[in-house]
Amino acid sequence: MEAGGDRLPAILLTAGSHADEVAGIFSALRLAQELKTDHRVVIMPLRDPLGWRGFRASLEDALDSNLTITSHDTVAAILRSGDVLWEETDFILAQIGELVFASTPAVGWHSSNLARRRIPRLVLEHPEVRTRLAGRRIIMPGNVGYQEDRNPYDWGGHTAYVGVSGYAAQFNRFFDRDDAPIEVTVPRSLATELRPGLTIDLHEGFSNRYYVFATTEASRDLCTAMIAGVRAVGGPIASFGDLAPSWGESVSNITDLGDGVFLLAEPGTTSAATFAGFCAQYGPSLTTEPGMEASVAQRVDWIVAGVQETIRRWEPTNAQKAKTERKDS
Ligand SMILES: [Zn+2]
Repeated sequence: MEAGGDRLPAILLTAGSHADEVAGIFSALRLAQELKTDHRVVIMPLRDPLGWRGFRASLEDALDSNLTITSHDTVAAILRSGDVLWEETDFILAQIGELVFASTPAVGWHSSNLARRRIPRLVLEHPEVRTRLAGRRIIMPGNVGYQEDRNPYDWGGHTAYVGVSGYAAQFNRFFDRDDAPIEVTVPRSLATELRPGLTIDLHEGFSNRYYVFATTEASRDLCTAMIAGVRAVGGPIASFGDLAPSWGESVSNITDLGDGVFLLAEPGTTSAATFAGFCAQYGPSLTTEPGMEASVAQRVDWIVAGVQETIRRWEPTNAQKAKTERKDS
């Protein structure tokens, strides 16, 4: 969908690469209505439609029957009727039709952990499983870190994908890879065509406070503008100390730029692996992270205010740049 005017460079807003980060998706839809700018704005509000549809619905589609799912044990019993690719006491992975389903007991950030750690480790250590999974999506129940009365089987978590090379990750990776799934190639083609002068990818994170990932140090001033916008509507800002316990073993990949702004550099991936990282070649690029412990309504208010302030701060700098370029030519 589009918003704004027709001035270039365009602004690219995306959300929902992680289906459980619902406030990002709602914010993208609200920004489509409320955003005021002369610049062209292109919005892709949902990058993982299968995850958004949810674990139970995808399993019902695959089996062509209605299901009642209340626990991992129920899921495991259903998945055993399919082609089981891997099973341990607390983890089952089975193919039904075109899709692969993974389940562990729904505790905390189980879905993120499966997509980021357990499945990559499994395909690394077991070539026979890697071969079976190549080119396939792996659907998982939603995270229940902050459950908010949701049933984790009614929506998805971090859908994982295994490329033909055997690389396994969730949909906010693969942007630097040839074996990327369509959930990655579509936003990547959009960015290549638009060459956005500003990219904002709407995610959600830990704690009940707001923070931002800058893609490069060059995006730092706009990140600080975003934080100011969130503060102006009363949003609390997270410190490194607030987040470090939740980041766990990833903490060593994160640099604190101060005032709720952080840089992430993961070993084993290039800086263009994420969507925001890929778009940094065209202009400033950042990733919102309102803490999911706050209510959805609060998170949406913070994101909307933060994005609006970021764009307000970006526009004059950008108009200045356009004027200089005209003078030069
Ligand atoms: Zn996310």
